[in-house]
Amino acid sequence: EEKKSLNFIEQIIETDLKEGFDKSKLKFRFPPEPNGYLHIGHASSICLNFGLGLRYNAPVNLRFDDTNPIKEESAYVNAIKKDVEWLGFEWAEECYASDYFQQLYEWAVEMIKNGQAYVDSQDSEKIAEQKGTPTEPGQPSPHRERSVEDNLELFEAMKNGLTEPRAHVLRAKIDMSSPNMLMRDPVMYRTLHQAHHRTENDWCIYPMYDWAHGESDFIENISHSFCTLEFQPHRELYNWFIKCVSQEGELEPKQREFARRNLSHTIVSKRKLLQLVESKVVDSWDDPRMPTISGLRRRGYTPASIKNFANDIGIGKRENMIDVSRLEFSVRDDLNKTAPRVMTVLDPLKVVITNYPEGEEEMLVAENNPEDENSGTRELPFSREIYIEKEDFREEANRKFFRLKLGKEVRLKNAYFIKAEKAIKDDDGNIIEVHCTYDPETKSGSGTEASKRKVKGTLHWVSVKHAKPAEVRLYDRLFTVDDPTADKEKDFLDFVNPESLKVITAQVEPSLTSAKELDKFQFQRIGYFCVDQDSTSDHLVFNRTVTLRDSWKG
Ligand code: ATP
Ligand code: MG
Ligand code: MG
Repeated sequence: EEKKSLNFIEQIIETDLKEGFDKSKLKFRFPPEPNGYLHIGHASSICLNFGLGLRYNAPVNLRFDDTNPIKEESAYVNAIKKDVEWLGFEWAEECYASDYFQQLYEWAVEMIKNGQAYVDSQDSEKIAEQKGTPTEPGQPSPHRERSVEDNLELFEAMKNGLTEPRAHVLRAKIDMSSPNMLMRDPVMYRTLHQAHHRTENDWCIYPMYDWAHGESDFIENISHSFCTLEFQPHRELYNWFIKCVSQEGELEPKQREFARRNLSHTIVSKRKLLQLVESKVVDSWDDPRMPTISGLRRRGYTPASIKNFANDIGIGKRENMIDVSRLEFSVRDDLNKTAPRVMTVLDPLKVVITNYPEGEEEMLVAENNPEDENSGTRELPFSREIYIEKEDFREEANRKFFRLKLGKEVRLKNAYFIKAEKAIKDDDGNIIEVHCTYDPETKSGSGTEASKRKVKGTLHWVSVKHAKPAEVRLYDRLFTVDDPTADKEKDFLDFVNPESLKVITAQVEPSLTSAKELDKFQFQRIGYFCVDQDSTSDHLVFNRTVTLRDSWKG
């Protein structure tokens, strides 16, 4: 599929190629930290990097940026792999920053020998105090001129866990008066007596992000390293660290930045999503209300709907908020083409067709998907008693009410025309049943003159005798406001939508008993629904993915 124009990232690559960069050296990576599940913001980065891989026929590594053992777990690694695969992307190599710990350590030792790094024995508050301000130079640490021998000895002791935790750090020796604060002798290593999910207790020193990230790109021969805007000021340091270790003629990766994508009515931050899980606002990382890839999958989103959304919003240079209705539009658009139509009644009202022979039933034929000519048909049982939606009947209503009212006729989808004759009420005046008559000449698909009669409304229905009860989980937006983090005085949890989940029992057509986990359907006239992992043939469970139309007012 040819795109209208190149985004600015593609233009960077095109310019490099024009200036002689060897196309066969293009290589990209997607570098998640395994400290949580991937969310819809990550989908943008995945689609960008793997999209470039496909466009230029270049390898893309999946790199776990696992340098902080406090927050990282192998369960997150597995969830991330599953999500990237599910989206339909193939990585060239599965890499881990932790696989480079030895190499990074050896380089750090070289840097000490070259006078490019030193051990500082001050605490982090002291180091911060000496950093200065953007307009005033910082103060050198009293340890800045420590001898190479002392630095090597101390660094070795830190590595072997022989020093007190946090007593020392290794710092790059750059420029305490640089206008870029990040260049004022940044920390390269901290000591941490903490087991790592892969290297276990091998290390008592852990590399900081800036030191590990660029070097990992360099080790893997990544040509272009795309990250989000907040890393722009880090670029100078990224380049400086690579210069420390690269040899003449070696490929030096190029860092470029793009804007983080934010989505309205939700949160895209692993840290805050973890808070939602831990505070039990949601059940799990894959709760269908979560903006995680796994939550969206369980909600009924398709890989195509997520990729189309990411491609439609594109890559930007400035941060902005994308309205969640664009994501909902994308899944509606995809499911409209692919989801079989079925009949289900969410809020049942019984209709008795008084002139339909008692004890009789028949099989009608229903089209599975008018948008897909290969989708075929199925059989649908019809009988004297059916359910319709409560809101589809009124005793009296104005001319704009195109549904069932006393004395008027409507079409039952795939069946007959019925006319309402009488409303049966309980002692409190609530309508509990509607008596109707049907016209046997109006059978759907029969081609009779009668079936061509003009009727305004078409209703969905299920046969009482054949219907199956199903638990239906009606999901709505997780937050009541666009940006739950906008008000800094308040906690984002204060804006959780108390009605983000409603559970009801619906009556569904019997064909749905054979539906499998993740199967998707259009419940006709209602919305798109997907079979939940909790569903069994004895207890069907459906999740509402999205309503048929964008009806949300908020
Ligand atoms: P979070 O704050 O949710 O933890 P992060 O940026 O720390 O986000 P990483 O695991 O480091 O998460 O992200 C992996 C890649 O995905 C990085 O290149 C990051 O820049 C990118 N990314 C993360 N969030 C977004 C977002 N909202 N929009 C676009 N790209 C993102
Ligand atoms: Mg992070
Ligand atoms: Mg990060």
